[in-house]
Amino acid sequence: MILVFLGPPGSGKGTQAKVLSEKRKLPHISLGDILRHEVRQESEIGLRAKEFINAGKLVPDELTIELTKKRISQADCSHGFILDGFPRSAAQAEALDKMFVDMGLTLDSVIYFAVNEDAVVERLTGRRSCKKCGAVYHIKFKLPKADDVCDVCGGELYQRKDDQEDAIRTRFEVYAQQTKPLIERYQAAGKLAQIDANGAIDEVLNRLLSVIGHGKD
Ligand code: AMP
Repeated sequence: MILVFLGPPGSGKGTQAKVLSEKRKLPHISLGDILRHEVRQESEIGLRAKEFINAGKLVPDELTIELTKKRISQADCSHGFILDGFPRSAAQAEALDKMFVDMGLTLDSVIYFAVNEDAVVERLTGRRSCKKCGAVYHIKFKLPKADDVCDVCGGELYQRKDDQEDAIRTRFEVYAQQTKPLIERYQAAGKLAQIDANGAIDEVLNRLLSVIGHGKD
């Protein structure tokens, strides 16, 4: 099964992608995670991407398209995958269509995570991430067992620069201008399924499963 998760910043698509990926044994491909990994490694790509990420802007298409192509060509993606945060622009959507044609793959569904924007700002400003492994927590909705320490790897938790107010504003603008128009594109292609992404993680997961099918977990 090949799924694309689309939605505004803080819509919870990354959280749902992680849960679904474990349930269905499908690789979760988060461009944001891949890019942050490159930044931590101080690779050439990471050094180019860092300023864009911290400002809440889109990293240039040529980088994200190449990274996506490389990742979905790997063997673990042969039975499907969840793309979280790609495509985010018309150029990326076109490039993805072409990748699917070239690789003989068919996109099953684009899930659009519809949320109320006030709730989203609270989700983003309260989010804390692990410096070492990237695991995500929330000061209200998903507390770590010990303050500021990652449950998974013991790394230190921090607030991403792009989860601070100025960058959040930019991320919403970028989303409205570049990513939101993709909803129409996928609707016209008959691929779009919308879910209500407000509420608790389990509630949203149930809505997601009722759209893609409960299957066997
Ligand atoms: P996310 O973790 O999905 O919120 O992404 C964090 C940041 O990574 C974004 O604000 C962008 O700077 C960058 N990014 C992630 N995915 C993409 C993409 N498909 N195209 C361009 N930049 C991206």
